[in-house]
Amino acid sequence: MHDLRVLDTLPEQAFDDIVQLASQICGTPVGLVSLVDEQRQWFKARVGLAATHTPRDVAFCAHAINTPDALMIVADTAHDPRFRANPLVTGDPKIRFYAGAPIVTAGGQALGTVCVIDTVPRELDAAQLGALQALARQTSALFELRRRTLALEDQAREMARLSQAATDERRRSAEMLDLVLRSGDMGMWDLDVPTGRFTANDREFEMFGHDPADPAARALDWRTLVHPDDRAPLQAAMLRHLAGETPAYTSEHRMRHRSGHWVWVRHHAIVVARGASGSPLRIVGTHTDVSARVDGRQALEHARSLLQRMGTIAKVGGWELELATGHLSWTDEVYRIHEVDRSIEPALLSAIDFYAPEARPLIQAAVEAGMSHGTAWDLELPFITAKGRRLVVRAQGGAVLEHGKVVRLFGAFQDVTERKAVEQAAVDSQRRLSLITDNLPAMVAYVDRDQRYRFLNAHIERKFGISVAATLGRTMRETRSAETYAQIEPYVAAALRGEESSFSYTEAGDTHYQSNYVPDVDADGRVNGFLAMTFDVSELHRTQRQLELLARVDTLTGLPNRRQFDEGIDAALHRARRLRQPVALMFLDIDHFKAINDTHGHAGGDAVLCEFGRRLKACVRNTDMVARLAGDEFVVLLENLAGASELERLAEKVVASIRPPFRIESGELAVTTSIGVAITTDAATSASTLLLHADEALYRAKKQGRNCFVIA
Ligand code: GH3
Ligand code: MG
Repeated sequence: MHDLRVLDTLPEQAFDDIVQLASQICGTPVGLVSLVDEQRQWFKARVGLAATHTPRDVAFCAHAINTPDALMIVADTAHDPRFRANPLVTGDPKIRFYAGAPIVTAGGQALGTVCVIDTVPRELDAAQLGALQALARQTSALFELRRRTLALEDQAREMARLSQAATDERRRSAEMLDLVLRSGDMGMWDLDVPTGRFTANDREFEMFGHDPADPAARALDWRTLVHPDDRAPLQAAMLRHLAGETPAYTSEHRMRHRSGHWVWVRHHAIVVARGASGSPLRIVGTHTDVSARVDGRQALEHARSLLQRMGTIAKVGGWELELATGHLSWTDEVYRIHEVDRSIEPALLSAIDFYAPEARPLIQAAVEAGMSHGTAWDLELPFITAKGRRLVVRAQGGAVLEHGKVVRLFGAFQDVTERKAVEQAAVDSQRRLSLITDNLPAMVAYVDRDQRYRFLNAHIERKFGISVAATLGRTMRETRSAETYAQIEPYVAAALRGEESSFSYTEAGDTHYQSNYVPDVDADGRVNGFLAMTFDVSELHRTQRQLELLARVDTLTGLPNRRQFDEGIDAALHRARRLRQPVALMFLDIDHFKAINDTHGHAGGDAVLCEFGRRLKACVRNTDMVARLAGDEFVVLLENLAGASELERLAEKVVASIRPPFRIESGELAVTTSIGVAITTDAATSASTLLLHADEALYRAKKQGRNCFVIA
């Protein structure tokens, strides 16, 4: 009944007609189509009754439906014990007569009745009873019709709903496809194999640099764009797919971009139609540009292999510990240092066991601090390889944090045994070197490019009472007196240019030093600084001066010096007085000797002085004294002179003998000399008077224009 959805519906003509007919046929004032549910009987159609329903427990029809296949007739309710006390009998509508024909469904269920009611007892004839039953069947047929209509309506609604859903779905799919086709990064294509007709979305064309609107692009055979090296694997993948081994065929290969470079694509295709022999008729597929991924992967692989190779060359290993998985990985060099086979998987605990027992707590603590706080470490620790060799390794580590949590540890690992040994040896040799330099009676210093002291030996400290520690790192200019620095500066500059030098300088008037600067030049020719070794030669100087005072020979020319000349002139004057003979003195000074020194250097000047002395000696007799008084001043002491004319001739001879060019190392040069000549006039002439007269004559010779002689 609920399926019929008929309860509490509005009146309908067909049912109203039935009750009209029933009451007319049976001659009763009341005719009803009643339907009975759990609580009540409800009248779908009624005539002669105001009530729309009555409670089920008092309903006559509730009795009638208990016998679906029979009419229920109550001829007089007053004589029927079931209904005598019924409130519908005792009260309104005061039923005395009732006849109801059950409305039975196709399934045999009675839903209610078509009934007639009267307020007086009554009898119905067979025709009337038959008509009532016919009306009940008709009602049943109406209900059946209603049920079918409802079912059809439901079906139609469901159909409409499904069709709407399908439409929606289609629209969504179409929209999705449209979206993918237009916005996606994916090229999509459809190839009709026999005709070669190729259709594709815009992306497919753009991916390879073609204009989707260009008909030439649409006519391209895309198979020719595949890189020659990639054609065979692609073909193989397609054949496997055609053989039914794969649901689709996928390949990653290169395709030529219009501008000439290669585009890495992921190719995914399905043969959707095949010919009788299984040959493909139609293929649909997609292309995704994976260049970035492939490039990234290749770059990563390249970087990995570079790291491995670099590690091998530099002898630096690398390791990484993934905290989430506990996975530890080593580079080849780490394996090599451990002397462990490459096939063995490293583990953190056993890795720590390779350290010497005394070092294990240190490395353990470092790794734990790294894990929990991300603290980095750098340790040099004793280590024992799988083959039992003792090494010193440098273990460095650090942490990678993600969202403040340590997720990975990584580090470098290096065998530093050799370096440690070299360092140790260097420390020893440094100690030995200090021992030597500290006890040398010399000041040894190393000065860097910025003229800062980098090393000073203990002798310096002892000698000057300065603190080596306080002087180290300070410059020569800061630490030396202005007077001293002015003297050494040119040699410092030379040493920093890479020139070795040896020179002497004076401090506070009477302290003399002899220094040797040796530049420190590295393999590239770069000067890093210089080594300065300085001796105090003051004592030597004093001794030398004393010796010079005692000496009577000029060390440069080998001629008698002033001391010997003083003695010689006194002796000559003494002889002259005794023998009443004159003594003459020639005083010579080389012209413009300073210019010779300037042009040919001091050594050149010295060579000229020596040659000058030799030529002088060659002009006179062996018994005549030729002496060098100082600088470029020479004297010739002449005895046993024949007369004034001889003196003049001799002076001319000297001037002439100097005139030929002087040959020295740096070349040839012209040298001239001026000569002042004096001769004793009487026995009382002293050495100093003779010298004074000669000097005055020389002065005049210079004034007359040099390269000449003047006789006083
Ligand atoms: P003048 O013609 O007036 O004599 O000019 P000059 O340039 O020769 O001047 P003067 O005689 O005054 O200069 C002598 C120079 O000799 C001065 C000094 O530099 C140089 N001299 C002194 N002793 C030596 C020495 O032992 N060796 C060298 N090479 N030069 C010396
Ligand atoms: Mg001179």
